[in-house]
Amino acid sequence: MAKESVLIIEDEEDIRELVNYNLSKEGYQTTAVESGEEGFKTAKSKQPNLIVLDLMLPGMDGLEICKLLKADPKTQHIPIVMLTAKGEESDVVTGLELGADDYLTKPFSPKVLVARIRTILRRKSKTEAGDDAVLAINEMTIHPGRHEVLIKGKQTELTLTEFKILHLLARRPGWVFTRYQIVNEIRGDEVLVTDRSVDVQIVGLRRKLGPHGKNIETVRGVGYRFKE
Ligand code: CA
Repeated sequence: MAKESVLIIEDEEDIRELVNYNLSKEGYQTTAVESGEEGFKTAKSKQPNLIVLDLMLPGMDGLEICKLLKADPKTQHIPIVMLTAKGEESDVVTGLELGADDYLTKPFSPKVLVARIRTILRRKSKTEAGDDAVLAINEMTIHPGRHEVLIKGKQTELTLTEFKILHLLARRPGWVFTRYQIVNEIRGDEVLVTDRSVDVQIVGLRRKLGPHGKNIETVRGVGYRFKE
């Protein structure tokens, strides 16, 4: 199995080296950079399996980098663990809402960092194995890896948000999803999502799917489901 790779974005040399050393020792392939700008560029070119991101960086700070990473189709799937100083709780909340997976407050134990990283990567490979399967329903084919929907072999242009909603519903036909669960699934997108905007997304999605739009059923007072 190929080594899993971690990109470390941290300006403080001591912490950068500490994280780098401990992750390499655990068998991860690491790349360490000093600035957010460099980190964003490296994330796009190297496609690491995970990013350790310090929030307090000179130039663009960690939250801005997090936003960029989560908005870019090339990097938005990469899990992020934030490193924060004490007293930055509001930044942590912002970071998590932007789509970061976890955070550690400095000073932290390298052992705890390694354990958190392992958990996130394990959780991710599990989801990917189940969620990356191509779904074929009647005349519709959903390619999660390619973010593509084909109807009778013809590609349908969906926004990323519409795609995520369709994929969420279609991989469990008959299962009802609340608006809150749908909001959770698409969280991390550049669009600010509310319950109401889920309804708007569904209207757009149904329209784009044409006759197949009726597969998405409204469950009154609860949410939506894909017809069994
Ligand atoms: Ca720093």
